[in-house]
Amino acid sequence: MKKRHLLAPGPTQVLPEALLAMARPIIYHRGPEYEALLARVREGLKILFQTKNEVLLFTSSGTGGMEGAVVNTLSPGDRALVIRSGKFGERWGEICEAYGIQPQYIDVEWGRAVESNLVAAALKADPSIKAVFATHSESSTGVLHDVEAIARIVRATPALLIVDAITSLGVVDVPMDAWGVDVVVGGSQKSLMIPPGLAFCGVSDKAWTVVERSRLPKFYFNFKAERKSLEKNQNAFTPAVSLVVALHESLAAIRAEGLPAVFARHDRLARATRAGVTALGLELFAERPTPALTAVTVPPGIEASAIVKTLRTAHGITISGGQTKVKGKIFRLAHLGYADESDVVVCLSALERTLNDLGYPCKLGEGVRAAQEVLSRAG
Ligand SMILES: *Cc1c(COP(=O)(O)O)cnc(C)c1O
Repeated sequence: MKKRHLLAPGPTQVLPEALLAMARPIIYHRGPEYEALLARVREGLKILFQTKNEVLLFTSSGTGGMEGAVVNTLSPGDRALVIRSGKFGERWGEICEAYGIQPQYIDVEWGRAVESNLVAAALKADPSIKAVFATHSESSTGVLHDVEAIARIVRATPALLIVDAITSLGVVDVPMDAWGVDVVVGGSQKSLMIPPGLAFCGVSDKAWTVVERSRLPKFYFNFKAERKSLEKNQNAFTPAVSLVVALHESLAAIRAEGLPAVFARHDRLARATRAGVTALGLELFAERPTPALTAVTVPPGIEASAIVKTLRTAHGITISGGQTKVKGKIFRLAHLGYADESDVVVCLSALERTLNDLGYPCKLGEGVRAAQEVLSRAG
């Protein structure tokens, strides 16, 4: 028998209360029971997004929410600015291009954080730019970008700031109204502790005025139609009812813990993980690491794929390797959502044995000890 531990940056472990709720008989999505549930979900999403506005809900993976953000804010011929610093930043560009928008790019070396003055310079050089697309927590490199600083720049211009917050919502503070972020995209399978299949879009007042005029083609991901339905505690189309039921549980859990405590928990797990891997002589890949996951540079002489495979086969632990440009160069340990202190300790202890088995000598317990010291200091 092998116990399995899911420590990938999505999907993440599912909250037991959510699993149990999904096992209950399905309810009718046009009936009073669902409407009451959706009313509470709408409230919970507003708390999570820290916004007074409606948070839209779509049945799709997170990318559907990203596509919705593009097609509801832009019109043919619009200029857009895309910050590309990893696979998910690239995705913003790919979606824009699929709809005939040729964005201007700010390319950032993978593993580094964007300098916000580059955004200011680009907006100054081309005041016709209608939207800036950014990634908050870039899961492919483990970098947390400074969205607060970017927002300070963009909110002083007519452009919208549209942020992929799929691994930052419910992990770090993303107060969209206070910062002035115009569209914030979230997804269900990361910090929300439920399975994949729901995307969320928070939309500012400034963005809504633009949505009214947007002329890119859209049908399913129609912000106006979805808001109209939500105001009646309905969805425009048949929602993934079981996932909304699960979401109701996870939002209740987040609300009970309180956002500040949720952020503090992620910060603690991230600091412990970083302390653990650096105590083993490994290097962090991200210059400004996200608390959602830790990207670690693969030491010379070892195959990244062997680390991932040994953790899975010998220890039952699923982590992620690197994607595209950094394939073979990094591996990623996630600690978001339902992850806890024991997950960090189990993961590091298995990593120590894996590295030894693969010919990277390290002292058993060294990484775990460094992590434990952070965890016990945190009290
Ligand atoms: C997981 C993730 C996405 C969404 O990917 P989907 O597979 O469409 O859910 C987007 N951005 C980031 C930063 C992510 O981590």
